[in-house]
Amino acid sequence: MAAVERHTTPSRPRRAAGARPTLEAAGRRSTPQREAVYRYLAGVDHHPTAEEVYLAVKRRVPRVSLATVYTALEVLVRSGLASKLTYGDAAARYDVRTDAHSHARCLVCGRVRDLEIVPEAGWVRTLRTPGFEFTGFRFELIGRCATCRRG
Ligand code: ZN
Ligand code: MN
Repeated sequence: MAAVERHTTPSRPRRAAGARPTLEAAGRRSTPQREAVYRYLAGVDHHPTAEEVYLAVKRRVPRVSLATVYTALEVLVRSGLASKLTYGDAAARYDVRTDAHSHARCLVCGRVRDLEIVPEAGWVRTLRTPGFEFTGFRFELIGRCATCRRG
C-alpha cells in the first residue's frame, strides 16, 4: 500500500466575488480591509505571517493597522476561508487553502510551501498511538529550501 497519495492539481480556491459571500454566510461583515487581506492571501503561495500580510496590504490600504490585519486573518480562519499554521513560539502563518495538502517548511528562513501529497488515510490508521485517540493528521517535511541551500 502506498503511504502517500499524490494530488497533481493544486486546488487554490478561486473566488471571483472575494470573501464577501462566505463572510456574510458566516454572519460576519465584509470590509475593504478584510477583502484586501483575503485577496493578498489568495495571490501568494508562501504562507505569510500576519506581519508580512500587514506590510503588503498597507501598500494598498495605507491606513490599515496591524491589529486590524490580525483580526481580519482570524475572521477569515473562523469563516473557513483560510487556515492557520502554528509553530510553537514562531509566528503563525496563514494559508488560503483549506483542502487536504501538505507542507515543506524551511528551518532556516521559515518559509512554507505546498506539497501535493497527503499520507494515505488507511496507512495513517495503522499507526499505533497507545492512549491517544487521533482525530486528524498533518504532514510536514522540514529541511532547507532552495534559496537557503544556495546561501
Ligand atoms: Zn529557506
Ligand atoms: Mn498550504
